[in-house]
Amino acid sequence: MYYKIHLLLLIVILSACTTDESYTLSIPKNGFEVVQHVSKNNKDKREKNTLYKTPREIKKEELNTAPLTLFIDSLYAVMQRYEGVGIAANQIGKSLQIFIIEAMSDNPRYKILGAVPKQVFINPIITKVSRKKKNFWHGCLSAQDKPRGNVASFEWIEYECFDQEGVRQKGRLEGFSAVVFQHEYRHLMKGTYIDYANHFLPKHVLDQKIKSGELPFFDDAHDSLPLLIEGYQLNTALTDY
Ligand SMILES: [Zn+2]
Repeated sequence: MYYKIHLLLLIVILSACTTDESYTLSIPKNGFEVVQHVSKNNKDKREKNTLYKTPREIKKEELNTAPLTLFIDSLYAVMQRYEGVGIAANQIGKSLQIFIIEAMSDNPRYKILGAVPKQVFINPIITKVSRKKKNFWHGCLSAQDKPRGNVASFEWIEYECFDQEGVRQKGRLEGFSAVVFQHEYRHLMKGTYIDYANHFLPKHVLDQKIKSGELPFFDDAHDSLPLLIEGYQLNTALTDY
């Protein structure tokens, strides 16, 4: 009997000690790789994937420290390696409330949409949104070989967060910056555009249709278009999703 109790106790202690690496700031030996989307039908696989785990807040004592700076630099390096315009921590296997956005206007893909200055968002919340919405065809580093999907996002948003130096920031984003912000925000709300869009097109077909004017590009969104950050309640932390 005592033996059994001791064994049970040992198991409890051992399981409490094994921490989920995805909640730490540690950098894997072989560097980071981009985590790929898993379909809703594959529940078991999805539960283990950081794209669908609740990301934790960065603690006050972690702000502006060397480990956090190293992590953010590593996240940025992955974004640059894959030529993304934004990246969220859970896309590289870390359940942390951090994302980065940046698009250069000299990149022909983003010339028309305008530049997105580099910004790091830590523990971001959205405080206000526009009434108007915009339509945009999304692609994603976590949706390799997947078609583009059309979803609506708010024309502008206002946010509060901490920046890389640990300073509290408030701001407003509009245009392409607001689209990329909401795309990354969706990731930290657990999910990708693939879970929300109901109209998909391969990239080469989409490019052709936009070029010929057959499809609208960055126009006002129709009310029937699914909203990218569907379900978000203003002023709530990402741990609530
Ligand atoms: Zn993405």
